Amino acid sequence: MLKDSFGRIATDLRVSLTDRCNLRCRYCMPHDGLDWLPGPALLTDDELGRLIGLAVERLGITEVRFTGGEPLLRRGLPGIVARTAALGPRPEISLTTNAIGLARLAAPLRQAGLDRLNVSLDSLSRETFATLTRRDRLPDVLAGLAAAAAAGLAPVKVNAVLMRGVNEHEAPSLLRYCLDRGYQLRFIEQMPLDAQHGWQRAEMVTADEILAALSAQFTLTPDGPGERGSAPAETFLVDGGPARVGVIGSVTRPFCRACDRVRLTADGQVRNCLFAATETDLRSPLRNGATDDELAAIWHRAVATKLPGHGINEPGFLQPARPMSAIGG
Ligand code: SAM
Repeated sequence: MLKDSFGRIATDLRVSLTDRCNLRCRYCMPHDGLDWLPGPALLTDDELGRLIGLAVERLGITEVRFTGGEPLLRRGLPGIVARTAALGPRPEISLTTNAIGLARLAAPLRQAGLDRLNVSLDSLSRETFATLTRRDRLPDVLAGLAAAAAAGLAPVKVNAVLMRGVNEHEAPSLLRYCLDRGYQLRFIEQMPLDAQHGWQRAEMVTADEILAALSAQFTLTPDGPGERGSAPAETFLVDGGPARVGVIGSVTRPFCRACDRVRLTADGQVRNCLFAATETDLRSPLRNGATDDELAAIWHRAVATKLPGHGINEPGFLQPARPMSAIGG
């Protein structure tokens, strides 16, 4: 069991498969991209298989989410999913993706054992999408979404980040779009994780603002009383339900006390928090012949030192040196 000193148990492993991406979302990456990790720095499929196997079979991980960068850019992704699905006890397997290329990959991924996915979609206007992501790829994303649903990867979840002055007015239209297709929409507050370190609190569209914008067009009722457990999204029934919408107020409504996550970066570093200032190297010991017991001990120690909260709202908060794309969102 991966337990920290505050009694939280990490059961949800987020695995970044690459730091590369085919979009350049303004809240994430600069126009020219980043200095990508060199190929040999990335964990190989076999190394990933060993570490994920250890996490699931020895350390109590019950959910594995593949992310990045853009995980669909990782060659051999269906094989990585299939290997994860063969573990016992079989973990839940999910994917966070921008859906470019999903039209081709949805069915093979489903067949390999993918259970669920989250598609990031911030705008339904081709022009605004291109402004926000710096790429004219909205049609590919919408095709990918449709393919995911057709492949039976239900419920399809959609993640949206709103940026002031860019797409902040689109909350109701995104919700309408998702309701019409049976997708579950969740808005995520913009976090200080961009490589450019340009995040400004005053510029962030807050959970309160998002809920106010939605409430102007829909009736939202809190879904269940109080506690949201380890689920980051506060969910609301839309117009009496059964459809729901979620809002993830990572900054203004943090959920660190119930956090059950741990991350493995594409280059084999354990991060016990998205905002952690330090990482723990698993790749070097792995490549130097460490036993499973030794790797498990390192992983235990990495989680044990998890801080009580992400610290974004504390004075002196420093944004992590590594951008979201490398950490794995
Ligand atoms: N490329 C994949 C995708 O687009 O879903 C996976 C990686 S991406 C880093 C994962 C999620 O993080 C996306 O939903 C993206 O919108 C979100 N994200 C990236 N930077 C963010 C930020 N600064 N604040 C909030 N969410 C962010």
